Amino acid sequence: MRRVVVVGAGHAGFHTAFFLRSKGWTDEIVLIDTDSRVPYQRPPLSKEFLWGKQELEDGVFRPDTYYLDEQIELISGHQVTAIERPAKQLILEGHAPISYDHLVLATGSVARKLSLPGGDLDGVHNLATAGDAAALRSGLASAQNVVVIGGGFIGLESAAMAASAGKRVVVFEAANRLMARAISQPMSEYFEKVHRAAGIDLRIAAGVNAVEGIDGRVRSVVGSDATQVDADLVVVGIGADANEEFAAKSGLATDRGILVDEFLKTTDPNISAIGDCARFPLFAADGSSELVRLESVQNATDQARFVAHQIMENTADPYRAVPWFWTEQFGRKLQIAGLVTGYNRTELESTGPDNFSIHCYHDETLLGTESVNAPRDHMRARKELTARLKQEVNATVIRFRS
Ligand SMILES: Cc1cc2nc3c(=O)[nH]c(=O)nc-3n(C[C@H](O)[C@H](O)[C@H](O)COP(=O)(O)OP(=O)(O)OC[C@H]3O[C@@H](n4cnc5c(N)ncnc54)[C@H](O)[C@@H]3O)c2cc1C
Repeated sequence: MRRVVVVGAGHAGFHTAFFLRSKGWTDEIVLIDTDSRVPYQRPPLSKEFLWGKQELEDGVFRPDTYYLDEQIELISGHQVTAIERPAKQLILEGHAPISYDHLVLATGSVARKLSLPGGDLDGVHNLATAGDAAALRSGLASAQNVVVIGGGFIGLESAAMAASAGKRVVVFEAANRLMARAISQPMSEYFEKVHRAAGIDLRIAAGVNAVEGIDGRVRSVVGSDATQVDADLVVVGIGADANEEFAAKSGLATDRGILVDEFLKTTDPNISAIGDCARFPLFAADGSSELVRLESVQNATDQARFVAHQIMENTADPYRAVPWFWTEQFGRKLQIAGLVTGYNRTELESTGPDNFSIHCYHDETLLGTESVNAPRDHMRARKELTARLKQEVNATVIRFRS
């Protein structure tokens, strides 16, 4: 009897257990998570749950009976603190050590805290877990003046929700455009217009110096230009870092993510790492590759499927996938196929002011397509990018150990 142990029961970890069982793995599966809730999805936390259209129970992957029925041993509420690699066992807080034949690290990422004066006042929220989302939703119910720090996906989804609920919203973004790490300049400009038209006070290329409060509760935010903005609730959406600490302490190679090869194996062949915590070689359609760490449901799920297959069949094909993402703000569903960083020209395909796609090219090579309320364009781009990627499957294989 072999035992696969998965650390982290988020998108990547849950799906590893799910794919193993559904593909016919009959040996042991142990799934461990620090969070004591039934494993749940994160995207609805900043969307349906914040809008009040969903409760936390609606976001679980499967009801708790699933784990018993499928003989997946779910150990919730215990943190893994170390891997004893020679003994192939895990050390947990408050639980006996657990041995493994193959270990999958799916520990996700950790939202950056605001390391500024006042960053720990009551009313200052991060949004990464179900607990965070519940606290934010309840805080928003009575807040009037909301300040969002960070104009990325999570910050802007929260800002859109708060503005739609009638709050006065100010967004500070330190970069010179919105969602700059993930989308093209023209798409940033489109979303800037959408947010401004909805009454959001966007302060772009503007940092924050401090958060001020009275009696331990937030009252205002001081911008880097020394202006003071009233705030009875602050949402911090300034990015996340790979949750790699115990992997690094256990001697696995890490560098802004747990480093894995094209088979998603770490520097220890008995350990895979997937999802938000892993930095892996991503191949583009033109055959070039770069080490990336992606934070998306597609990446977590596709890597889980690959690793489950790899554990069962030891497949010889390396991991290849076209990344895709989505966000929803003010009824605009933005879907992104591919990675658009490095584009040098764009082409617009439009059927209306709020139904269009921007195709991003490097010279003649399509890098990615961003679609607003245009799901067909999105699917077409994914197909095209996938077809081109398949031609590259036999490109140089990168692995730590053969
Ligand atoms: C609010 C929000 C909205 C999002 N919206 C979107 C979206 O619209 N589209 C999209 O594609 N992506 C979205 N994402 C990102 C997406 O949810 C993540 O990329 C995805 O969840 C990654 O899956 P993961 O399993 O790698 O990590 P997670 O889902 O974060 O799971 C990691 C798990 O590991 C556990 N863990 C960590 N360390 C330990 C330890 N030492 N011991 C035990 N357990 C541990 C954690 O408790 C956690 O449950 C969103 C994320 C958030 C937070």
